[in-house]
Amino acid sequence: MERYVLGMDIGGTNIRAAMQKEKGGTEHFVKVPRDSVLTGERSMEALAGFIRDYTGQYAGGRLPEAIAIGFPATVDATRRRVLQAPNIPGLDGVAVADELERLLCVPVHLEKDVNLLFYSDMADLGLPSRGVGIGVYVGTGIGNAIFFNGEPLPGKNGVSGELGHLPRAGGREKCGCGNMGCYECYASGWRLVQLRDQYFPGTELSQLFTRYGAVPELAEYVDEIACTIAAEVNILDPDYVVLGGGVLNMEGFPLEALKTNIYRHARKPYPAQSLEFYQSKDAAENGVRGALALGWKKAMAS
Ligand SMILES: [Zn+2]
Repeated sequence: MERYVLGMDIGGTNIRAAMQKEKGGTEHFVKVPRDSVLTGERSMEALAGFIRDYTGQYAGGRLPEAIAIGFPATVDATRRRVLQAPNIPGLDGVAVADELERLLCVPVHLEKDVNLLFYSDMADLGLPSRGVGIGVYVGTGIGNAIFFNGEPLPGKNGVSGELGHLPRAGGREKCGCGNMGCYECYASGWRLVQLRDQYFPGTELSQLFTRYGAVPELAEYVDEIACTIAAEVNILDPDYVVLGGGVLNMEGFPLEALKTNIYRHARKPYPAQSLEFYQSKDAAENGVRGALALGWKKAMAS
């Protein structure tokens, strides 16, 4: 059998996995409930068992060249240990890469889930790995990827790119991170639900922009997102900006207005004049596809 890599995307609700041979393409995509594998007890043995079952079923028991796994969690700067996984029991502080390598004898690479989205977008959109690329994914919260020359910027603790937690003076909303008044409180899917409940009760969330797209409450909300993104644009002068996530992919979301507002808030003439935007299409498989891209990148480098 040809060489292959295994990519996994471990979420709070589901675990997704797929394999990819050298010729490319995603094969044997599977999705299972997260709590059918990770219950908080003996997590690494359970994960290794899942991988053995998968490779037994789809690769005749032959192990991959590399395994890349994304988590909705903070992962340490060396990408060997999960520091904190609020949505998945039993992973906090676990040296997942070392433990799985010991159990499976295959190189294992960890990454924050949002960085896997960016790997997937780089491949899909044909984006260059040279220079600075940023991705902003507005879903329930704000996901942010900052890449330099094709690699995520890790930072001292592995937690760079927490754009949603930029502080705002006078903010009175309590953020999920424990601080008060983070931008995420004003520019996230979570905020959109609040706005719906306050101003458009009874409206399906998915209908908000198609029905009320031009009203001031939603225009202000879009500008909050623009301000958040422009802050990072002004700091990093990126080569390109990828815009994605569930909110930005909602039907009727005013993406052009968002770009215009980012331009308006960006410093002139640069970086404003050279801004390059790309759109990330929301798909449940993107995390796994990013993991496959990372898996091959690591396998080729070793
Ligand atoms: Zn916060």
